[in-house]
Amino acid sequence: MIDATTQNLINKGEMLPLMEEFYTIQGEGYHTGTAAYFIRIGGCDIGCHWCDVKESWNAELHPATASDSIIENVRKYGNTVVITGGEPLMWNMDYLTHHLQDNAIKTHIETSGAYPLSGSWNWICLSPKKNKLPLEDIYTVADELKIIIYNKSDFKFAEEQALKINENCVLFLQPEWSNREKMTPLIVDYVMNNPQWKISLQTHKYLNIP
Ligand code: SF4
Repeated sequence: MIDATTQNLINKGEMLPLMEEFYTIQGEGYHTGTAAYFIRIGGCDIGCHWCDVKESWNAELHPATASDSIIENVRKYGNTVVITGGEPLMWNMDYLTHHLQDNAIKTHIETSGAYPLSGSWNWICLSPKKNKLPLEDIYTVADELKIIIYNKSDFKFAEEQALKINENCVLFLQPEWSNREKMTPLIVDYVMNNPQWKISLQTHKYLNIP
């Protein structure tokens, strides 16, 4: 049970339920291959059945952590953070991202877009989920649309989502990891026939890094 003082700090974004933080290589999407400090925030109610971080879902399992201490850790590693989850937009991202940018650190987010956008971002990767669709506003500001392909119907979902996105957004199709052997050849064919899309692979899993 969170006490009132802590809850107040969480509401202001001065504390966040931190699941883990680590320096690694961004494995997927537009910035694949780039070193970045990952901040994984607990809490998600989207419920993707293939989710590979189900342990993130229950925010109460992840200690409320001072955003200032996260920022101090980030400052030791490079100039880019990726804030992921869980679903980070369940929380107020304003304090963390403004202070990171004040320290000349670029802020990237990976989000389903299902919650209102808070925070100041250098890069927004929108990964919509059928279970809980993005709110409308995020389509206009997303830099990257990343659709996870678990089965054939996800190609249709990808096209529906691409119709909503701004014209500068880069489009990616990414095979869901457990189904990659089946879906990757279909994605290859799809991208050759629809070259506005690119393939994203979870290269960190092939590299066996976090
Ligand atoms: Fe897992 Fe992300 Fe889906 Fe949440 S939105 S259930 S964290 S894959």
